[in-house]
Amino acid sequence: MIISVFLSPFMGLIQIESVFLPINQNTKKMKDVGSHNGEMMRRGRVEVICGSMFSGKTEELIRRLKRAQFAHQRVEIFKPSIDVRYSEEEVVSHQGNSIMSTPVDSSSSILLLAQDTDVVGIDEAQFFDEHIVEVCNELASRGIRVIVAGLDLDFKAQPFGPMPQLCAIADEVTKVHAICVRCGALAYVSHRIVAGDKQVMLGEKQEYEPLCRECYEKAVTTLNIEH
Ligand SMILES: [Zn+2]
Repeated sequence: MIISVFLSPFMGLIQIESVFLPINQNTKKMKDVGSHNGEMMRRGRVEVICGSMFSGKTEELIRRLKRAQFAHQRVEIFKPSIDVRYSEEEVVSHQGNSIMSTPVDSSSSILLLAQDTDVVGIDEAQFFDEHIVEVCNELASRGIRVIVAGLDLDFKAQPFGPMPQLCAIADEVTKVHAICVRCGALAYVSHRIVAGDKQVMLGEKQEYEPLCRECYEKAVTTLNIEH
């Protein structure tokens, strides 16, 4: 190095820069920073996947988590213990794709259980208490990539639980859409087709249908006239 600097200061600088100094920095870069959508990103971050029922939210969550597992990253997945529609210990999409998960009663349990991990996945986030927002922020500041999936709107087309706050603090929000079962446009809400006024009512195709704004308004008006 000294010789090359002596022979040519310009060449020496290039060598110092490209051979000696950046080796450690490059290694660190590869470890802490990845490429996403052509841009560089820190690993500690919050990603939110939201949309109506049958929009493929959980499918997208599972895809991202399995991709991380394939790269030997340590992945922990949590879901609210209220949601045991398909399986007690798995997150399962409508398509039947699944991944092992831990059911938890409150968001604070996630902080306790998410030790020594690179990626945390959270499904059905709309059912968690409002502290889920602080939990996601805390995990991200520990350098963890947090991927959260949840229903953005309830069956009355009102923002659901902590989802608006989660979208606000997220580094990235992906809104996915189902197809309106009545007209084929993009759906935006899960319309409840059985009686019941409770916000939380776990259900499937027999209980909910994805509708676009126009068809939802028609459906609600018809229902009000019938009543
Ligand atoms: Zn429609």
